[in-house]
Amino acid sequence: MAESGGGWVKVVVAGNPGPLTLDGTRTYVLGPEPCLVIDPGPDLADHLDAVEVTLGTVQVAAVCVTHYHADHAAGTADLILRLAAPLAATPQSAERAALDPPDLPLAAGSTLDFGGGHLEVILTPGHCADHVCFHWPQARALFTGDVILGEGTSMIAPPEGDMAAYMSTLERLAELDLSIIYPGHGPEIDEPAEKLIEYLEHRRERERQVLDALAAGATTPSEIRARVYEDLDPRLFGAAEGSVAAHLGKLVAEGHVRATEDGYRMVGPA
Ligand SMILES: [Zn+2]
Repeated sequence: MAESGGGWVKVVVAGNPGPLTLDGTRTYVLGPEPCLVIDPGPDLADHLDAVEVTLGTVQVAAVCVTHYHADHAAGTADLILRLAAPLAATPQSAERAALDPPDLPLAAGSTLDFGGGHLEVILTPGHCADHVCFHWPQARALFTGDVILGEGTSMIAPPEGDMAAYMSTLERLAELDLSIIYPGHGPEIDEPAEKLIEYLEHRRERERQVLDALAAGATTPSEIRARVYEDLDPRLFGAAEGSVAAHLGKLVAEGHVRATEDGYRMVGPA
C-alpha cells in the first residue's frame, strides 16, 4: 500500500456542481479488497453507475456516510442495494437520510476494517450535529465530508450549524498526524496541518470582525454582515448572515454578547 494511500483511493465526482458542492460531491472508493465506499453522493443514476464501474467485481466491506445531507447521502439506499453492501453510518444520520437503521452503527471510536487497514470514526459536529470524519491511520489520511473542503470554507449556519462545536472539531482534527485530507468537495489537500490552522484562523478572524462590528454599533446580523463582508455579491448575503448568526450564537453562549429585543450587544462594563 502506498504511504499516502495513493493508488488505493479512487474518487468519483458526481454531476452536481454548484456554489456549495464546488465541482460536485466526491465519492471515495478505498482499497484494496474488501473495499470501502465513503459518501455515495446524490441519487443520480449516472453517478452511481460510475461508482459501480470503479468498484468492478470487488467485495465491498461497507458503504460509509459522513452526514445525512442529500448531496452526500441521497444515493445511499440505491447504492447499498446495487452492491448488497452493509451501511456504516451513525443511527442519527441514517434516520435523517430516511435510511434503514445502519448495519454498522457508528459512534466515537468505532472502527471499520477493510483491505487497506481500518478507518477510525471521529465525531465532528459543527456543520451539522451528526457529522463524522473517517481517519485512516495506515495512510495518515482523513476523509472530511463537509468539515474541510478542497476550496473555500465550509457552510456553518444556524439552525444546524454550531460555530463553537465546529471550532472545537477543527482543534481536535489539528491534533491528528496527517499527510493528506480527502474532502467531500474540491481537490485533495496535501498540507493538512496548514489547512486546519488556516481554517481555525479564518474563523477566529471572523469572530474578531463580528466583535469589532458590534463595538462600532452594528446590532443585527445584516448590519454586521455589511461591515464584515464588504463588496459582497448580494446573492451571498443570506449565506454570510447565516455565518454571522453562527458566530453570534457562539459569542452569546460564551457570555461575550447578549441578545436583546433590538439586536445583539456586547457584554461589557456598564
Ligand atoms: Zn453537508
